[in-house]
Amino acid sequence: MAVAAVHVLVFPWPLQGHINTFVPLSTALVNSGVHVTFLHTEHNFRRVRCTEAAPRLRYLSVPDGLPDDHPRSVGDIFTLMESMWTMGSAAYRTLLLSLLFPGSGEFPPVTCVVADGIMTFAIDIAEELGVPALAFRTASANSFSAYLAVPRLLELGETPLPVDEPVHGVPGMEGFLRRRDLPRLAPAADGHPTESETAADVHPFLLTVAKGIAHCGRARALVLNTPASLEGSALAHISPHMRDVFAIGPLHAMSSVPAPAASLWREDDGCVAWLDGHTDRSVVYVSLGSLTHISHEEFTEFLFGLLGTGYPFLWVLRPDMVGAAEKEALRGAIGDGSKVRVVDWAPQRDVLRHRAVGCFLTHSGWNSTMESILEGVPMVCWPFFADQHINSRFVHAVWRAGLDMKDMCDRSTVRSMVTEVMESSEIRESVQALAQRVQRDVATGGSSDNEFKRLVGFITELST
Ligand code: UDP
Repeated sequence: MAVAAVHVLVFPWPLQGHINTFVPLSTALVNSGVHVTFLHTEHNFRRVRCTEAAPRLRYLSVPDGLPDDHPRSVGDIFTLMESMWTMGSAAYRTLLLSLLFPGSGEFPPVTCVVADGIMTFAIDIAEELGVPALAFRTASANSFSAYLAVPRLLELGETPLPVDEPVHGVPGMEGFLRRRDLPRLAPAADGHPTESETAADVHPFLLTVAKGIAHCGRARALVLNTPASLEGSALAHISPHMRDVFAIGPLHAMSSVPAPAASLWREDDGCVAWLDGHTDRSVVYVSLGSLTHISHEEFTEFLFGLLGTGYPFLWVLRPDMVGAAEKEALRGAIGDGSKVRVVDWAPQRDVLRHRAVGCFLTHSGWNSTMESILEGVPMVCWPFFADQHINSRFVHAVWRAGLDMKDMCDRSTVRSMVTEVMESSEIRESVQALAQRVQRDVATGGSSDNEFKRLVGFITELST
């Protein structure tokens, strides 16, 4: 089949980190000559203002089943899942069915689906309708490998707990992985699970997530947004469980044409100009991603820890992240504010690329981790849930690209770790060496570039 007749429906899980990975995937597919229909939820479709599409790229939407003002945050993730599995999946089935026949303008019928591996229903429905489906997981391969090992971990009694006990059940990670580094999907209401989180509480949940991960083995292939040079060992352990695996990241660095903006919040335009006024590697960039929430106490510890370093900092505090009390405390603490800039949402990739940024205080989401590594910016990690704990462990103990605060959040830890990372030439050199490796992966002829070309060939063949 000619590539021009290939039409891929891509369907991300409707959260920012997932959308941010699917957008450059779509751009790269479109640049290869493929048609792409990008499926948003109606709620997100309105927020990202999808008006400008490139040739061969269009946006469509399905309802997620929730009222527009319903929070779609991590505390409410189960409501979103439930409604996506009912209302969302029904609307997706109807839409996909309608796209299987000629007649939707310049677009040929859909020949393949690339759906977020979280949405097992999207894979099953596509295959049921005779459309080959690939699962795309946007978290790290290391976390995927750890979830695959859940049955073994349960046998060994090695469930996630905030303790230092070593874990032996995840292949290739013996020796440095501890129970506190295992991925957790259920954040406690206030963010971090506590010592009292019992194994009995986590078993059913872990098993459900592990089942979802294993389900990717039913898809025609698993696609991961990761480069082989970073996660080669996990990829080798995942491979025998899947029909095929494509490691094609970091996607945002792979396309020569920039991907369209896909932020659910309005980016602050002044960040880069503010950074321009600072000397090289003098600023700390602080962002905890699109979903995290922090308590008043954690906010206060961060604030005074950061102020204690003496470095200027740029802090992303989403409007849903803090309340009036925190804003008041912030105003009181930062004085004339010349050394501090607080924004609702930043153009993160531009910020990390800026010469003035010396350190990234991050929640260790997989996109943020790769964006930081790609730009050679060392990290201080404060993980919350999902793959973040295992990512932060790798950043600290394996890649030597930063320090892992893990579940400690007091002002003296914030101050000392940020200061150490800002000043350590060893950590900086180590992350810069990683950056060079990853840049080679995404360059023409690199492992991710080759895997992406193989993916286009694979999709074209499936589409015949
Ligand atoms: N991001 C951004 N501006 C911000 C904060 C985050 O553009 O102020 C982007 C960031 O570049 C990344 C994504 O939001 O691509 C967050 O994804 P990640 O996987 O790091 O974390 P999540 O939000 O899914 O927890």
